[in-house]
Amino acid sequence: MTRSASLSAALLPSQNPLRMSKLQIRRLEEVVAAGWERSFYRTHWGFARLDNALSLIRSMRFQQFPVIRKHHLRDHWDEIMIFENVVDMVSSSGTTGRPVDIPVTRADEYLRVIRVRRLLRELGVQAGTRVLQLLSLNDLFTLGPVAWLAAKAEGACVIRCSPQRLDRILQAIAYLRPQAVIGNPFVMARLAEEAGDRWPSPDQLPDLAFFAVAATFDAQLQPTAIANLVRERWGLRAMLNQYGSSELGPIAFECAMHQGLHVHADHQFVELIHPVTGEPITNPDQAGEVVITGLSLPRGFVPIRYATGDIAAWLRHSVCPCGRTTPRLGPILGRVDHQLKLFGQTIFPDMLLSIVDQCPFVQLAAIVAQRDSVGSDAITVMIVPRNGHDPETVRCEVVARLTRNLAVAPAVEVVAEARLKNLEQHAAQHTNMVKIARFFDLRQEVGTR
Ligand SMILES: [Zn+2]
Repeated sequence: MTRSASLSAALLPSQNPLRMSKLQIRRLEEVVAAGWERSFYRTHWGFARLDNALSLIRSMRFQQFPVIRKHHLRDHWDEIMIFENVVDMVSSSGTTGRPVDIPVTRADEYLRVIRVRRLLRELGVQAGTRVLQLLSLNDLFTLGPVAWLAAKAEGACVIRCSPQRLDRILQAIAYLRPQAVIGNPFVMARLAEEAGDRWPSPDQLPDLAFFAVAATFDAQLQPTAIANLVRERWGLRAMLNQYGSSELGPIAFECAMHQGLHVHADHQFVELIHPVTGEPITNPDQAGEVVITGLSLPRGFVPIRYATGDIAAWLRHSVCPCGRTTPRLGPILGRVDHQLKLFGQTIFPDMLLSIVDQCPFVQLAAIVAQRDSVGSDAITVMIVPRNGHDPETVRCEVVARLTRNLAVAPAVEVVAEARLKNLEQHAAQHTNMVKIARFFDLRQEVGTR
């Protein structure tokens, strides 16, 4: 057996309840030993000795370790984070209160970059490719700088533009002719919309897109409305998505076969759990909360069963047509804390928006959730119809689409474009401006603050 063949055999998950390879289990033991050095984990796990923790792994009962969550990072920050060899600080957006800043070690940054390079290669970015980079390099946002470093490491030339500066982007496209683009598809659609007649023809625009920070395919692996819109407006030949977070870096990436997001299985172990009971989900077609354990060290934050709050549509272990054997994650349906109850049904804002986005007469849409007088969720879909379309007809069309897909429909309200943009701008004050806010959760604003 060749060296590479024996390595790939070692990476194949054996038929154990953890679905982990021997190599992954060995790394897991090292990671748990590293976690043992942090006082938070020792208290959180409740083991008397490290050996007790390791024996749980060896007996394939790793899933009995309690999960940790973002509030643990916020409340026990000093007992969790490690500052040795830290070269960067990253943070997620959209939080109120103390932001959870994550120290990134030199080694962790290098491995985050390696993971993004896998996607860039899959997309066809190579030495000499000119890449338009529309992700922020500021405000502690993690993926912007990592994507920048990754593209440069591939020998590509990166053209860094703020998505807030449309004129500069149009100049960069006209004079520098980027062949690939890295950006949030909602932001990319907005750019084309705002440019109007000035938007270049597809032959002048990049062919390849690395989509970030948004779902671009659904649970049935079909492109979402926003992915189709951006493909058409930008004239894209290929587009790939990735999933990650500031706490963990890149977690999974899409291959050219578009069969879900391949987990970087040499760097993270991914599980899905029931968000309420915490029970592991074993059905490969069932949705669940994404739980991550880092397998590469050293890290400023060592995630051990870190429950991300993201709900993925499924986690499959079958071999992909591309030949990779790593597990594949379905699209992220939404956040655990964004779950809404509509006539007893659990739904996510992104699910509602993806249905509304398919209506060609809607220019903008957003969701507002409030608490009604009896403590239930009062959900309103706000829409801005496209110019020249009768607002009431468009509203009825949206209601019909929602009812067809969900059997029930929330209130749908036509609003002025200025009102929706105001809400967006207000929400942007709390974020790193990488996402366009489309869900306004006002449920906590009555009585609790
Ligand atoms: Zn694949």
